[in-house]
Amino acid sequence: MFIFSIVFVVGIAFLAGKIIRSMQANHLPASEEGLKKDLLIYPGSELNFSSEVMNEVLSKRQPYFSHLAKEEQERFLLRLKKFISSKTFIIHDRSGFREMPVLISASAIQLSFGLKEYLLPYFKFIHIFPAEFVGVQPTIRVLAGNVSGNRIHISWKHFLEGFQYTHDGENVGLHEMAHAYYFQNFEIGSYSDDNFVTHFPSFNHCGNKIFEQEKLPGNDFFSEYALKNFQEFWAESVERFFEKPVELKTVYPQLYSTMAALLNQDPVTFYSPHIQ
Ligand SMILES: [Zn+2]
Repeated sequence: MFIFSIVFVVGIAFLAGKIIRSMQANHLPASEEGLKKDLLIYPGSELNFSSEVMNEVLSKRQPYFSHLAKEEQERFLLRLKKFISSKTFIIHDRSGFREMPVLISASAIQLSFGLKEYLLPYFKFIHIFPAEFVGVQPTIRVLAGNVSGNRIHISWKHFLEGFQYTHDGENVGLHEMAHAYYFQNFEIGSYSDDNFVTHFPSFNHCGNKIFEQEKLPGNDFFSEYALKNFQEFWAESVERFFEKPVELKTVYPQLYSTMAALLNQDPVTFYSPHIQ
């Protein structure tokens, strides 16, 4: 159920490569023990990024953060610090960048910024792969990201592509976090957010109609992948909500308003054509 795969586009991969190369100066230090296993392991509580470092990374690469008012940015940074320190980051490579824990965690903070409960305590581990990786459960397949057990897995290459084109409606970071928040709130049922839980039935009700409607010829706001099952529809709705809010509000106004209530935020005000 928690699978997300995307088609690879050579041009986009090139741009992501450029970003990775521009981060060479921001290497995270490697521990000897991790290197023996070809892994970099960082307990978030030991990362101790200063607000200045996080601010610098987010201002460069995270458009949502850049559009926030100053005092909201302070709140975002406080939440981000807490989130990072509550996770362990496992990088499946011999080099890691400070952008990895900061930006991947920032996707969770973006999605949950209007909610009271945002820490996803069930998900203790965030695994970062340099590019697409192989998942073995329930079947062997190539993945750009997935949520499995208490772990969130993300391909860094695909994660960066999500932020390269911020208005194409595709963002693997937001997609996987959408699965994780659903799982925390409904499958685990502890540390659930009242607002999220209260409004989800309205999303269900409205979303189910659109889920069926989108299967009809001529309707293509959602991808074929989103129509695989309702979980994927939910995850892609979150991607569209943040990356194509104006279009979502125009095509499916009721779905947009149920999501704005559920997530307690209104990205149309961020991403109006006048604000760049
Ligand atoms: Zn998915």
